[in-house]
Amino acid sequence: MKKNHNDLELNVVLFIKNLPILPSLLVRTMPTDLSIWERNHFTQYDIIIIGSGIVGLCTAYYLSVSYPEKRIIILERGLIPSGASTKNAGFACMGSLTELLDDLQHMPEQAVLDLFEMRRQGLTRLQSILGKDAMGYQQNGSYELIRSDEMEALDYLDRCNLLLRELLHADAFSLCNHLIPSFGFKGVEAMVQNLCEAEIDTGQMMSALIGMVTKNGVQIKTGSVVAYFEEHESGVELVLKNPLDASDFKMQADHLFVCNNAFAKKLLPEADIAPGRGQVLITQPINGLRFKGIFHLHKGYYYFRAYQNRVLLGGGRHKDFEGETTCEFGLHPQLQNDLDEMLRHLILPDQAFEIDLRWSGIMAFGPNKKPIVEQYSPRIFAGVRMGGMGVAIGSQVAFQLSEMYRKNRA
Ligand SMILES: Cc1cc2nc3c(=O)[nH]c(=O)nc-3n(C[C@H](O)[C@H](O)[C@H](O)COP(=O)(O)OP(=O)(O)OC[C@H]3O[C@@H](n4cnc5c(N)ncnc54)[C@H](O)[C@@H]3O)c2cc1C
Repeated sequence: MKKNHNDLELNVVLFIKNLPILPSLLVRTMPTDLSIWERNHFTQYDIIIIGSGIVGLCTAYYLSVSYPEKRIIILERGLIPSGASTKNAGFACMGSLTELLDDLQHMPEQAVLDLFEMRRQGLTRLQSILGKDAMGYQQNGSYELIRSDEMEALDYLDRCNLLLRELLHADAFSLCNHLIPSFGFKGVEAMVQNLCEAEIDTGQMMSALIGMVTKNGVQIKTGSVVAYFEEHESGVELVLKNPLDASDFKMQADHLFVCNNAFAKKLLPEADIAPGRGQVLITQPINGLRFKGIFHLHKGYYYFRAYQNRVLLGGGRHKDFEGETTCEFGLHPQLQNDLDEMLRHLILPDQAFEIDLRWSGIMAFGPNKKPIVEQYSPRIFAGVRMGGMGVAIGSQVAFQLSEMYRKNRA
């Protein structure tokens, strides 16, 4: 009997419906089945940068200025930058007295000077990219609080000034004990003023950088987690997870810049990088807050500043190095409690306060304080391991990466 057309169609539908779902059939209909338009315009770039922190953004800035014709994209795993660059304290700093003395115990003198100079150059670069206003740059004073167990550091103040004089042509450090009572601190034996440092508004700086690179034609794709990459003779292939169906999504670039700091270990397993989480809190605005500026304590392990009449305080990682060696964001109850105590007894002993926010950020550390800035292979460059000083050195690292790329092409 001859089947009519409708019967045939119905039978085909029933047949398909009853078929076991084979993975190979599914894969062919997945959204990552690319159209010619998608392949040509959404997966192939001259330069791909992993990470939209300060290093990734500044790298994109320098490359887009030097090579406006290049198609450049930044791939960022978070919906916003999600590492350290939007979580930090916004200190435009080069090193406090006790931090430098500690460095001198672990590093050759020249290496300490080189690092100091790198911070200084980085901060100058950031200012020349954005201008002071766009990043909320202010010089309200920078101080280090010295408690009784660290008074010996003052014996080395002149030596440190002498050491830095060849870079600064002036003294960086001077005693300012007379300010302690007016600032209202308790349990502080001495205070050292640092003339080279300043503060920025981290949020303003990062927003301005994003605006700047976007204006230069750089694309930023958020929600893009790079799972791994492979270098071939003709280019680099990156594999991302498509959030629609968790299938692989592949992108290609002539050159790749790895700028994902603490998270680079997954992509560059042999790199000597350990993550380090940092704890921060900020109070509600305080009526009659008695100080302005940025403050360091205990070799840089604690830091606080005034911001919008609030106190932002962070640090304490040294009290649980092991626990804070993690890439996971999260609050450490004991360390947060220590920060509360420091506010109550040392910073705001006579003033009532309430905590508005607490957060963490993830930094990257290594066997020494030097960042990794290198051409990793013919088509891959890496600028990672910024320690606790990426605001200061991030743009300098980015500049060095762009110079490596330029020399590689010459
Ligand atoms: C609490 C705290 C306070 C600090 N205070 C200061 C300070 O006052 N002064 C100072 O100089 N420095 C400070 N730092 C350090 C400074 O913030 C960092 O060194 C700097 O932000 C690092 O920048 P980055 O671009 O290298 O890394 P990040 O800002 O961490 O950027 C890396 C980016 O890569 C993304 N990423 C990671 N993996 C992937 C992947 N597989 N695919 C796609 N994207 C990925 C992340 O989401 C992230 O946005 C502080 C850090 C913290 C945490």
